[in-house]
Amino acid sequence: MSATEKNRQALMALFGSDKLVAMLSGKRIAITLPSASTPPSAMLLATVLSDTLGRLWPNLDFSGEQAEIALSVSEEAARSGGAPTNGLRVAWEPPYDMVVSIGVPAPQAASPSIQVGADGWHVAFGESAACGDSLNPVGPAFAAGLAAAQVFRICFESELAGSGAKPLGNWSIDVRELFNARGLELTDIDLGETHVFGVGAVTHGMAWLLEKWPRKVTGDLNLVDSDNYGSGNGQRYAFMREGSAGTSKVEAIAERLRGHAQLTVTPHSKDMNTYCRDHGYERPLERVVTGLDSEEARRQAALKCPKRTINMWTSESYIGAGQYVPGQGRGCLFCAYPEPVDNPMDEVARFHRHTGLNPEVVRELLSSSRELTAQEALKVSTEKGIPLERIQGEPLRSVLPVLCATGRVLRDDAKGAVDVPFSFSSLLAGVAGFIMLLRDVQLSADVSEGWNQHVFKTPSPLMLSSQKRHLRCVRCTAFELLLAAQNGQP
Ligand SMILES: [Zn+2]
Repeated sequence: MSATEKNRQALMALFGSDKLVAMLSGKRIAITLPSASTPPSAMLLATVLSDTLGRLWPNLDFSGEQAEIALSVSEEAARSGGAPTNGLRVAWEPPYDMVVSIGVPAPQAASPSIQVGADGWHVAFGESAACGDSLNPVGPAFAAGLAAAQVFRICFESELAGSGAKPLGNWSIDVRELFNARGLELTDIDLGETHVFGVGAVTHGMAWLLEKWPRKVTGDLNLVDSDNYGSGNGQRYAFMREGSAGTSKVEAIAERLRGHAQLTVTPHSKDMNTYCRDHGYERPLERVVTGLDSEEARRQAALKCPKRTINMWTSESYIGAGQYVPGQGRGCLFCAYPEPVDNPMDEVARFHRHTGLNPEVVRELLSSSRELTAQEALKVSTEKGIPLERIQGEPLRSVLPVLCATGRVLRDDAKGAVDVPFSFSSLLAGVAGFIMLLRDVQLSADVSEGWNQHVFKTPSPLMLSSQKRHLRCVRCTAFELLLAAQNGQP
């Protein structure tokens, strides 16, 4: 078998669509670093960009002083998802479909290019985008996520026509402004008691920032998720390593955070409801971070009544993060995901609608946690147009993330959509969640606010909005009745 055919087959197993494999394989992308004296923030940016691009693109050329290091990050990312690495190399052979130059102008003007920079909280695109000496990973990760989204936008411009995608142009911002968090500082942080429910793709993005936070981190961090890595996770999970498939997600993230010697990280390989039942309800949860994959799971997390919640999400071309401290008209997480009343559906009906599996099969799969048979996986794959390899042998609850956190790109023949795993969407949602977490930890304001953003558009502070109490919220209603009773009111 030729190397080209081997590559094609490996990518087919990952992405499941010949059209998409041809689209990705047909593009050559270059990442250029400074030729000498690469500053720390450029290295952080290059690292996270190389990881996220390596999860999607099979042909990447690296050049500049630290090209070998960036290349090895991309290779590890590709291998973690079982993708080929022979199209990843240290080279400069223009013209390219896209050049991303980090902190310096692109070497020549013949290829379409973007120049990206970051330093501390600052991100910049365009002619004056530069990097600096800060070790803060927030700006670099935010810039890398946006740059990776722009690579995709430019390479698939015709397919994304009509989606609202826009170039960033010459644009820069202090990311704290996007989140009404100008008071954030690069200082020691104390997470107190924090529970993370759901250690999926967005939580992996957030975890990288916590891992790289250059100051002391203290507190008691509990990671709650019963899932092991699936073979398809390598497409979206930031810094997932080769050989992780089949191993515990919470254990892997706990291991990554060991560098913070004074942070107590406890992995709990069980689902949120089992964890909370075992934990008991006498003492309320102080802070919960949700990186969950369905609205129903978020409602269930909200019903655990945490005092403070950080929520992160992706949905097709949109990403977002919110902070919820309910009370006095401020919404809780449940308020943000009220139960649908016009077409109420139980979990079985919802899974039936999302997967196409018959309700009796859904009910059995949910209650037994058994994995999808080849025949069931084929039915979901055929009806929903997602790769068979990514769902076969997975439990049903792992199928929803594959359906939710993928963007849809129109095929040329306009007959349907191809699902693309947007590693950059998960990354950006994770960065936004980390900023919300910092906001909660450092500024401790009692507010409920959410930020949502089209991943192919220029981020704006206008996308932050206050999250009000929802009239139909069962959590807030019950909580208010309880408070009234405690205060002796009728
Ligand atoms: Zn509520």
